[in-house]
Amino acid sequence: MKAEHYVGGAFRSDGEEFALVDPVDGSECGTAPEATREVVDEAVRAGRAALEGAWGAATAEERAAALRRIADGIEARFEEFVDAETADTGKSRELAATVDVPRAIGNFRAYADLLYGRPERAYTTAVPGWSGGTGQALNYTVRRPLGVVAIISPWNLPLLLLTWKVAPALAAGNAVVAKPSEETPSTATLLASVVHEAGLPAGAFNLVHGHGAGAAGEFLTGHPGVDAIAFTGESATGAAIMRTAADHVTPLSFELGGKNPAIVFADADLDAAVAGTARSSFTHSGQICLCTERVYVERPVFDAFVAALGERARTLTGYGPMISAAHRDKVLSYYRLARDEGATVVAGGGVPVFGDRRDTGFHVEPTVLTGLPATARTVREEIFGPVCHVAPFDSEEEALRLANDSPYGLAATVWTRDLSRAHRVAPRVETGIVWVNCWNLRDLRTPFGGVKASGIGREGGEYSLDFFSEPVNVCIRI
Ligand code: NAD
Repeated sequence: MKAEHYVGGAFRSDGEEFALVDPVDGSECGTAPEATREVVDEAVRAGRAALEGAWGAATAEERAAALRRIADGIEARFEEFVDAETADTGKSRELAATVDVPRAIGNFRAYADLLYGRPERAYTTAVPGWSGGTGQALNYTVRRPLGVVAIISPWNLPLLLLTWKVAPALAAGNAVVAKPSEETPSTATLLASVVHEAGLPAGAFNLVHGHGAGAAGEFLTGHPGVDAIAFTGESATGAAIMRTAADHVTPLSFELGGKNPAIVFADADLDAAVAGTARSSFTHSGQICLCTERVYVERPVFDAFVAALGERARTLTGYGPMISAAHRDKVLSYYRLARDEGATVVAGGGVPVFGDRRDTGFHVEPTVLTGLPATARTVREEIFGPVCHVAPFDSEEEALRLANDSPYGLAATVWTRDLSRAHRVAPRVETGIVWVNCWNLRDLRTPFGGVKASGIGREGGEYSLDFFSEPVNVCIRI
């Protein structure tokens, strides 16, 4: 597909074209324009104009109705979205049709619903009492939008993660300038056309394409007219954006990388733990920020667990490719590093041969490793591929120590039948999300985000609306 910018209510494709690559077979499958500094500047100015015009004047009810029209618009073009997401990412149609596109629709509907649970622009607190010892006062707090917000999203769940930020940003009354990943710009372009058809005032939602460092991404995050940045991507990119944003003290919301642990206790339903870990390690070929890359298994069931997980990895079929040749090479470099560090390769570790067009694509084998120390780079660094390392533990304390021994802290899974243990262990895992006997079971109202190098702030439900709006206190002397 031919991706286009959407600025001030109009589509355009100025800027140098770059090629899009189908990761399934490495063929060229489209183009996107590289936004110049001028295009980014126009998008930010269009956002400001929208806030000063019709979009800024829209009531919460009108914004909620707009979000519902966007959700309906995606639904009406469901297959088109599935096709575009599949072509860009190489993920299966089933995954796109059951996760990515329905969640995008859900994101808009969830925030339209939430707006009705929240008084217009505000919740108020009345404090007709002590006020700094200088008399009686009534304090109330209104929430107003931040202004023009930059939204920068990654390639792994392009539409889902973009809409996860766009929906609450618009719900809270902001204007948006979005920049999707240069690898996967197609569904964002479709979203712009749905927004257009939904009749949002020009400039309320703007889309620019292009690369990150030294390009569209950096032009946007360093723009003095941007009032906040919501970013999902690698931790190192987050650090770079933070440096750029420092010049204007721009508020940030960060969803970053992970090296997610799973803890499997000997009392767990072993079949469920194996199936759950296969899902959490290999779904979308490990290219979900929530995927498990470190597994800690209580020693009595360690051998049985490793054998069963290895078998699942070896017999997995229908899995998709890495997003790009560069990412495939990065993952394979970790497969080599693991061997150099002394790992036992229980399953996978190489490049599959299919005997069809996929052989020119970017696939790697689902891989299970054992035998590495906690200090190994393979156990510490995010690989973002279909790979996990499994290590044994002997006590609850040791499991927690191993799980928490990471610079990251996004998500964890705990497998146990012991209810007390689940409640004891879960709050002590240093991650923002802990799943017990499940993985990636999501309620969009719950806080989502990471600790340590995995992020700053929380998204989801009220948490997103709070980030995308500013509480302003009004104090009236009475
Ligand atoms: P990435 O950081 O390379 O790129 C993400 C986005 O940032 C892209 O749009 C890119 O163009 C842009 N970008 C890159 N450098 C920039 C710069 N200097 N200034 C401004 N923008 C810049 O990430 P990726 O490879 O697309 O995605 C994979 C990463 O995302 C993994 O680390 C994964 O764990 C993480 N991730 C986290 C979550 C979460 O919710 N915590 C969700 C999905 C992915």
